[in-house]
Amino acid sequence: MLHRAALARLGLAGDYALYDVVRREALEPILAQLREGALDGLNVTVPHKEHAFSSCDRLSALARRLGAVNTLTRGAEGDLVGHNTDLPGLVAAIREAFGEEATLRRGEAALVLGAGGAAASAVLAAHVLGAAEVRVHNRTPERAVALCARLGIGLAVADSRAAARGVSLVIQASSHGMGLEGEALATARDEARAILAETAADARVIDLVYRPSPTAYTLAAASLGRAASDGLGMLVHQAALALELWIGARAEVDADAVARPAIVEAMWEAVR
Ligand code: NAP
Repeated sequence: MLHRAALARLGLAGDYALYDVVRREALEPILAQLREGALDGLNVTVPHKEHAFSSCDRLSALARRLGAVNTLTRGAEGDLVGHNTDLPGLVAAIREAFGEEATLRRGEAALVLGAGGAAASAVLAAHVLGAAEVRVHNRTPERAVALCARLGIGLAVADSRAAARGVSLVIQASSHGMGLEGEALATARDEARAILAETAADARVIDLVYRPSPTAYTLAAASLGRAASDGLGMLVHQAALALELWIGARAEVDADAVARPAIVEAMWEAVR
């Protein structure tokens, strides 16, 4: 929906289709289509981002840093180039949501919840935004320890409330609350509230989850008077950056049409 809206706005022919890839081997023929020029670009999502990373011939610096690829382009020689637009998409979304308040002031700490693929981007985003300390809490504590060790950033904290104490930015990058409704959503909201109650009174909260809307964490944040945003902004911005990579590589596209604001605007209209 996002990519089709943006292509239509830019007046570009083409389509964005979904491939239901269950087994890792099924990714190979799709990557071959990109190599051969039958496709102009690809996104890859969970759980194939690491496999895509190891299948690429070249990697952007960000993809290499994160160890994960979510966007692929074809190089001039038919080589597969791996990029990661999740991290810049998340930073753009946080800046869009909180404006000047997105940048952490001297000494302010951030909390990342989760230790999966999205949490890696969240840890680096908190670092980029100036966090003096990035605490990482995960349901399975060892995975938080491993994530911090791999990135060389972050401090794993096993107790969620202790991890949240006094932080100014929360990036909720776990699947907690995703897809819940009714009683289950209310329970998740109450669990989220117990964690967020420990944060600084002016804390900013971004939940990477975007369904249901509002999410458990944005509901909890609102009840505590904290500024909050869900994951739709990141979804839009990582997609816009991916499309920009694909069409930016096409010589026939008018330079004015490759402006990210137009892509972002069309995508926001599609999801609103
Ligand atoms: P992932 O690699 O599968 O990791 C899932 C993480 O969530 C793990 O840390 C897991 O903890 C934790 N978790 C799962 N259920 C939980 C629960 N009930 N309570 C607490 N923690 C729980 O997934 P991912 O790619 O990192 O994605 C995480 C979330 O971010 C998903 O909801 C996804 O939709 C969202 N996301 C959004 C965007 C966006 O553009 N907005 C982009 C990427 C991801 P364990 O280690 O204990 O299993």
